[in-house]
Amino acid sequence: MLTMCRVPMSPTPRDNRLLPQEPATRDVARHLYDQVAGAPIISPHGHVPARLLAEDQPFSDPATLFVSSDHYVTRQLHASGVRLDALSVAHGADPREVWRTLAGHAHSLAGTASAFWLRDELASVFGIDDELRPDNADGVFDRISALLLQPDYRPRALFKRFGIRVLATTDDPLDQLDAHQALSESVTFDGRVVPTLRPDAYIDPAAANFRVNAERMLSATGAPATFAGYLTALKERRAYFIERGAVSVDVGVTDPATAELTTPEAERLFQRALTQTLSDADLRMFRAHMLLQLAAMSVDDGLVLTIHAGVYRNHSTPTFERFGPDTGHDIPVPVSFTRELKPLLDRFGLEPNLHLILFTVDETVFSRELAPLAGFYPSVYIGAPWWFLDAPDAILRWRSAITETAGFYRTSGFIDDTRAFLSIPARHDVSRRTDASFLARYVAEGRITLAMAERIIADLVDVIPRAAFKL
Ligand SMILES: [Zn+2]
Repeated sequence: MLTMCRVPMSPTPRDNRLLPQEPATRDVARHLYDQVAGAPIISPHGHVPARLLAEDQPFSDPATLFVSSDHYVTRQLHASGVRLDALSVAHGADPREVWRTLAGHAHSLAGTASAFWLRDELASVFGIDDELRPDNADGVFDRISALLLQPDYRPRALFKRFGIRVLATTDDPLDQLDAHQALSESVTFDGRVVPTLRPDAYIDPAAANFRVNAERMLSATGAPATFAGYLTALKERRAYFIERGAVSVDVGVTDPATAELTTPEAERLFQRALTQTLSDADLRMFRAHMLLQLAAMSVDDGLVLTIHAGVYRNHSTPTFERFGPDTGHDIPVPVSFTRELKPLLDRFGLEPNLHLILFTVDETVFSRELAPLAGFYPSVYIGAPWWFLDAPDAILRWRSAITETAGFYRTSGFIDDTRAFLSIPARHDVSRRTDASFLARYVAEGRITLAMAERIIADLVDVIPRAAFKL
């Protein structure tokens, strides 16, 4: 006789999602999570453009908002066989059809962080508790579309509703930061939106348009076309950003090698970079020297230096040629920091003014390199799990890998690093729930007291990111 499998009819309530299943530990986790569930959000690194808030226009439609503009989502649909142009409203796709495609593929996204965030966003921002399915796709699309027209769903109103205390953008060094200026002068907006200088395209000779960018920067600042003039121009742009509220410089590298060149050698490589005649070995040396120069500048002007290392960008050449960067095919590669950063840390690692925050998508370095480095150098902070690792299990693995060596206070605090504005609260909430779960286990195992866990969970959303980013 066939016996029916009895499925519990009361699944984990939304309030207890991601918390431990064992009741006693869950109670502790729930207690800790409740302490910070509604705490303001500090977002010291991300990619939401300031003009979104400066212009404060209504979001156009659900498909652009949740699918077309989010390469975390489009990459998974693409992997399921959907063409990227069929997901891109900018390439002429019909928003309702894009939304139906998303609903039709809900099963292939299930279990991913993106699916979890989407469910949370629909519930907490739009009050839609139903799982998205083909048979309710049109109704959900219409409901969201109607809400997006309401004043409460404009970017500034949502910024306030989300409780964002600080939001950092990521900006081109020659950006005049007019949108930031407009926000800081606005009498109807009191949020703190700070620029971040991202110099990659100006310091990596292999970047497209490096020469044009370097020359534009030199002429914008009136500096001579020498290596010293080039450094002066970079320093001037940093000063410009600092005047407008910047607290950090962010650089993306495949390999975080650092090196110190002599002045004549740096000059020689710079001139070769301008004429695009660098050998591969010289290219690596120039990049390594520039990373060390960025640290030297941070010691002088105080900007926090964040390094995002170990991603092979634009892996699919045909996709890059057709759709450009940030379209879902950046793939992690192995990375190491210990030997690579030694020249930089020998020069500046003990400087009180240097804050160096290291992010990677290579989990193997968390316990082997990042925790030991941050467990000695006061300048080094362990960046929160980044990109593919910004997910519940990965966050727990990261905590497990680093805490026994570096504790909780040598970290950056949670970083959402997102372009998807509406996902900011959902992402911070995942971090708060997983941190509460992790701390609850430490309390249950007698490793820390409940009182200490209460202090740590509060500091993780405020004191710790403020300290790392000098906020
Ligand atoms: Zn970023």
